[in-house]
Amino acid sequence: MKMIRHRSVRAIGEAMVEMAPVGDGLYRRGYAGDTYNTAWHMAQWLGLRAEVGMITRLGEDRLSDAFVEAMAADGMAVSGISRDPARRMGLYMIELDGVERSFHYWRDTSAARHLADDPGFLANALHGVGLVHLSGITLAILSPDGRDRLLAALADFRAAGGVVALDPNIRPRLWSSLEEMRAALTRMMGQTDIALPSLDDERTHFGDADAMATVRRLQACGVDEVVVKDGPGPVILSTNGSVTEYLTPPVAKIVDTTGAGDAFNAGYLAARMMGRDAAECVGAGQRMAAAVLSQHGALATKSAVSTLPKP
Ligand code: ADP
Repeated sequence: MKMIRHRSVRAIGEAMVEMAPVGDGLYRRGYAGDTYNTAWHMAQWLGLRAEVGMITRLGEDRLSDAFVEAMAADGMAVSGISRDPARRMGLYMIELDGVERSFHYWRDTSAARHLADDPGFLANALHGVGLVHLSGITLAILSPDGRDRLLAALADFRAAGGVVALDPNIRPRLWSSLEEMRAALTRMMGQTDIALPSLDDERTHFGDADAMATVRRLQACGVDEVVVKDGPGPVILSTNGSVTEYLTPPVAKIVDTTGAGDAFNAGYLAARMMGRDAAECVGAGQRMAAAVLSQHGALATKSAVSTLPKP
């Protein structure tokens, strides 16, 4: 396990405005997005013991300002954010049909798609950071050139001792083809220290027969630390060449599975940054996921996070 040298983490990706139904055709505004969800839980849990922020791009409009204010109010660092005078944040609405939820997105023209336009900005934003977390969605929203610039910045970051974590979070609809998606994710694994895949996704899109097949494929790309999630199934962790299986404790009352994987990543990476051993990191991930599974939406309540034992 590669040591994380600075207690400073940045999630690279897109936060969207979320409109969640509260009944009678009314909606509540919030913010969500896979890497943002992970950063938010890390910030809540770690408090002042680490600096947690995002590397992203927003608009210069009032809504983007409100998001930055909300991040600051939640104790997050806002130093890795660039502003785009010509674009705004992406948005999605949740539509309820009984208990079924469908998601409707307006994100094709979001400012975050341009977060890797400026190599100087990326290098600056990564300076002094110990851990970076990103996802397959981060890669999917970038142009091919943007992806190249991001990978180059991550290579420099790692060469300077930084640790890179990746959740492949495979979303075929965000890619122009399945071949492009597989190639980009495989290339990204070459700059990844900690991979946090979900078995379902890897089985569907890479044909892995089981978690060990995922471990072997990612190890072959050079990833040392592979953490395979499988819903209620065991977590498989491979690091330093050895593989351990951790049972997932049952969650009493699952209300909504949205964001369970993002929350797992937050618990795992927060414990990892605080120097905990593998078993403690997996346990922290499972507890954070359980907190999110027990209520609606992708973010746990602040009080639920604050009652978790600190890493
Ligand atoms: P994703 O949301 O990325 O698909 P998974 O479904 O693999 O992620 O779940 C991530 C984590 O959430 C699991 O490792 C586990 O800790 C927890 N989890 C998900 N579903 C359940 C469940 N039914 N019971 C208990 N824990 C669960």
